[in-house]
Amino acid sequence: MQAAGTQAGIVSPPSVVADGRLARTTTKERLARIGLVRDWDFLLHLPSRYVDETRIVPIDSLAGGSQGQVEGEIADVQVVVRRRRQLLVRLRDASGELLLRWVHFYASQQAQLLPGRRVRALGQVRGGLMGIEMIHPQIRVVDEQAALPAHLTPVYPTVEGVPQAWLRRRIARALQDTTATDLLPAPLRRSLDLMEFGAALELLHRPTPQVDAAALEQRLHPAWRRLQFDELLAQQLALRQARARRRRHDAVALRGDGRLTRALLAALPFSLTADQRKVWSEIEQDLATVIPMNRLLQGDVGSGKTIVAALAAARAVESGYQAALMAPTEILADQHYQRLARLLQPLGVNVTWLGGRAREALRRTALADIETGAAGLVVGTHALIQEPVRFARLGLAIVDEQHRFGVEQRLALRQGAATPHLLMLSATPIPRSLAMTYLSDLDISVIQTLPPGRHAVRTKLISGARRDEVLRRIRAEVSAGRQAYWVCPLVEDSDEIEAMAAVRMVEQTRSLLPELRVGLLHGQMSAPEKRAAMDAFAAQQIDVLVATTVVEVGIDVPNASLMVIEHAQRFGLATLHQLRGRVGRGAVQSTCVLLFDEPLSEQARARLKVLYESNDGFEIARCDLRLRGPGEFLGARQWGLPLLRFADLERDAAWLDVVRRTADELIEQDPRSAAAIVQRWFTGATQFLGA
Ligand code: ADP
Ligand code: MG
Repeated sequence: MQAAGTQAGIVSPPSVVADGRLARTTTKERLARIGLVRDWDFLLHLPSRYVDETRIVPIDSLAGGSQGQVEGEIADVQVVVRRRRQLLVRLRDASGELLLRWVHFYASQQAQLLPGRRVRALGQVRGGLMGIEMIHPQIRVVDEQAALPAHLTPVYPTVEGVPQAWLRRRIARALQDTTATDLLPAPLRRSLDLMEFGAALELLHRPTPQVDAAALEQRLHPAWRRLQFDELLAQQLALRQARARRRRHDAVALRGDGRLTRALLAALPFSLTADQRKVWSEIEQDLATVIPMNRLLQGDVGSGKTIVAALAAARAVESGYQAALMAPTEILADQHYQRLARLLQPLGVNVTWLGGRAREALRRTALADIETGAAGLVVGTHALIQEPVRFARLGLAIVDEQHRFGVEQRLALRQGAATPHLLMLSATPIPRSLAMTYLSDLDISVIQTLPPGRHAVRTKLISGARRDEVLRRIRAEVSAGRQAYWVCPLVEDSDEIEAMAAVRMVEQTRSLLPELRVGLLHGQMSAPEKRAAMDAFAAQQIDVLVATTVVEVGIDVPNASLMVIEHAQRFGLATLHQLRGRVGRGAVQSTCVLLFDEPLSEQARARLKVLYESNDGFEIARCDLRLRGPGEFLGARQWGLPLLRFADLERDAAWLDVVRRTADELIEQDPRSAAAIVQRWFTGATQFLGA
């Protein structure tokens, strides 16, 4: 097939809502974050649907409501101004004329559409005032003899900033360069009545028009069945490997005398909630054995995970070992550092900072302390797992907001002679049903209830056009002695652009609210600048903090009672929930205003409604999964865990026994194929489960 992107063509932009953080990096990094690195990753990235560009129909055969491709000559091009600028193109073939309409368009698109040019237009047809028309069709400029492709054109799930055409080319190359050997022994494959692996892959990426498209899109085609089987099989094999590795029992048992942990508890101005006590005792028990802990501590934003992490760190130190806490951003790491230092330093623990931007002299001292063991608890960013850092006796690694880290990074913290215990903290829950089924080697502790005295944050959905109302609210909160965040999380291509937007926003806010003190916090500021802005906000020297998504995780200012989020519809529910969690941390009633841009799509409305209706991170995650559907790979990949992308546990439940048996058989008869299957499906994730 002619890869669709190789000809001049306009392909509509991908419509996947991405986490704001995905957008600020290079293509390669963006792809890596969703797990697309090796040729194999691209091969296993399957189309969500197909477009039929293999046929051309006469214009006069199009009917409203149908989908089709026509080819003709551009008769004329017009830009008209209705409520907004529209681009109208009349396309003519031997049978008739068709109107093509764009309500959003770029100059580059317009430049392609010259009268007299021959183009193919593909899209949904609808009846308009002036006869039939296509809105935002896909356009391809062709010449008289341009051949039609022999295969359906795949449409792949993608992320912001990675064009469909690019992804198609990359995957086509992977298909060409990779030999997709069938790793199931032929007799076994035949007895299971499965399609050959390479043939299945080829068919899924480039089906001929004769293939039953409905069966493909519903993932019921035998080619899909083969991939689903292998995915389930790889999963089972990975879990078996992981279990075997954990049976090596090579962690150190942390059974300190309890002196530090007791002192820490005694020094807290509050007592632990029942849930905090429960999860701490689960962790305490894990730490006391030589089986490396592999535990995820889940708790909604503000549920009090940090203190539990502090207890675990204190336990490591009082047992004569070091602990490390790694957070995904400088800001979050810094916040942890300050809080943990405040809690533990008075008890005699040496809490050491190691961030990416630490001053060289400080950095050298920190590295030396880590190496001699003088540093008890080390807090930092990924600088912690970069080359020159060598722990003397690392007993416990804590990773905050773990889904932000790549799998390899989490893994790196575990290297050394003894395997350190691993504690992961996260406010993004994995729904229980998923966790139980897939992650049998990961233990999960959950903090369900928030500390006493909290009020649920009230959520308002307000159209961006009603900005006045927002300004009124801000004034009201500030005159009541409280503070507000105004987050303008534009999903832009770069930190720079986002920072510029924030700077503009601050100027605007200052002119609209001249009587208030408005501060700024964005990702391009230096660490001391960020620290200064946060400190000023915490000290109530700033009334309104205009910020980019850097505030998403970790900021703790109980006096802030209003959170305004711009362009809320562009964000993932998890991100919005996290942002909302920045308020409602004190005893006052807090509000979160989600400003949305109109028009709001059905899907976006449904998503925002979830936040409006629920304050429960678990419920939100469940809805998110449901709204995005099982085929949405971002949700699963976000965890870096081998969740299923293609198989469906409910639908395929009956298969599981067969899959388990096959896994056992394969490990027994052909361990090399077994290992290769795991490699193929998820190298990194498996290591994470088992390391
Ligand atoms: P998380 O990391 O889970 O989002 P934090 O650990 O930051 O939550 O805790 C949120 C706030 O709640 C902090 O200000 C913390 O001091 C406070 N807190 C934690 N545990 C309790 C408790 N048991 N009782 C009262 N306040 C608590
Ligand atoms: Mg936290």
